[in-house]
Amino acid sequence: MTRALNFNAGPAALPEEVLLQAQKQLLNFNDTGMSVMELSHRSKDYEEVHNGAQAQLRNLLQISNEYEILFIQGGASLQFSMVPMNLLTEGKVGSYVLTGSWSEKALKEAKKVGATSILASTKEENYKSIPQLNLDNLEANAAYLHVTSNNTIYGTQWQSYPDVSVPLIADMSSDILSKSLNINQFGLIYAGAQKNLGPSGVTVVIVKKDLLHTTVDHLPTMLNYQTYSQNNSLYNTPPTFAIYLLKLTLDWVESQGGISAIEQKNNEKAKILYGVIDESNGFYSGHANQNSRSNMNVTFTLPNEESTKEFLTLAKENGFVGLNGHRSVGGCRASIYNAVPVEHVIQLAEFMKKYRQKG
Ligand SMILES: *Cc1c(COP(=O)(O)O)cnc(C)c1O
Repeated sequence: MTRALNFNAGPAALPEEVLLQAQKQLLNFNDTGMSVMELSHRSKDYEEVHNGAQAQLRNLLQISNEYEILFIQGGASLQFSMVPMNLLTEGKVGSYVLTGSWSEKALKEAKKVGATSILASTKEENYKSIPQLNLDNLEANAAYLHVTSNNTIYGTQWQSYPDVSVPLIADMSSDILSKSLNINQFGLIYAGAQKNLGPSGVTVVIVKKDLLHTTVDHLPTMLNYQTYSQNNSLYNTPPTFAIYLLKLTLDWVESQGGISAIEQKNNEKAKILYGVIDESNGFYSGHANQNSRSNMNVTFTLPNEESTKEFLTLAKENGFVGLNGHRSVGGCRASIYNAVPVEHVIQLAEFMKKYRQKG
C-alpha cells in the first residue's frame, strides 16, 4: 500500500506512525479487551489518555500552571462565539485584527455578543500580508485583542506577536505546535485539532486561569469555560477517540525531537517550496508578501487559468492530493503541516520544476 502525497488543508495528513499505533491498539487498548472508543470516559484507562494528552501538550509547549488546557467540541468555529461570550463583558470592546476569512468569521460572532472594533485589516489588499499594528489605537477598555496566527486560506502567518497590555487571544488552528511559542504572551489560544494536532472532533483551548475568574453565570453550561476547567473537560462525554489520537500525535512530536526539531523541519519544507516559486522567473507567483509568508500553507498562482487547471490535473494524476487553492483565493495551495514528510515536499518541488520547464 502506498500512502497519498497529502497536501490537504484540513483535515490533513497524520503521522503514519500514529495511524499504525492506533491500528495496533484498535481492538485491544492496554489489555482492556476494548477499543479506546469503547472505554468509559470515567475509567482509569481513559483518564490516563486524557490527562496524558494534557501533560504532553504542557511539556511540549512549556505551558505553566497559570494556564488551563481544555478539550472542547464544536471546532475552532465555536470558539469564535465562546471567546466573546466568556470574555467580552459589559462596557468592554473586543478588538480584532482582520487577516483573512477566519478572522472575519470570529469578528462576526463577537458582534452578536457585544461591542467590537477592528484594530487593523489587510482586506483591501486581499489579505496578502499581516498588518503593522498601531497599538495606540487599542481602546483602553478593550477586553482582549484577537488575532489569527496563521491564515490557512491566504497563506500568511504572524512572524511575531504584539506585546499588548490586554489579553492576547489567538486562533492557532493551523500553526499550533509548528514552532516554539512563548505561551505567557497569550491570554487564550484555541486550535481545532485537524491541522496539526490530530483528527477533527476536539478543539484545544489553552487559557490563563485568571481570565476564568470573570463570572458569566448566565451562560449555557456547555458554553462556559468554567464548566470545562472545573471538571477537567469531563463534565460530559468528551470525544475520547479524537483525544486519544491527539495524545498519540503529541507523543510523536516528542519522538521527533520536540518543537524545536519540528520547527526546523517545517522551515526546511517551506524553504523548498518558496524556493521553487522564487526561482521560477515569475511562472509561479506567491500570494503572500514575502515578509508574511506562512510555513504551513504555501499559496501560489500560475500565469493563467488554463495552466493552473492543467497543473492541478497533472498533479492529481501524479498522486498529489489537496493542491487546489481555496475557492475564495483560487490558484494552488500546498499545506505542509507537521505530519507532511520532507520527502513529499521534495517530490512536489520536483514536479513543479518539471511542469515549469515543460510549460
Ligand atoms: C480550519 C480553521 C478554522 C475552522 O475550524 P473548524 O474546526 O472547522 O471550526 C478556524 N480558524 C483557522 C485559522 C482554521 O485554519
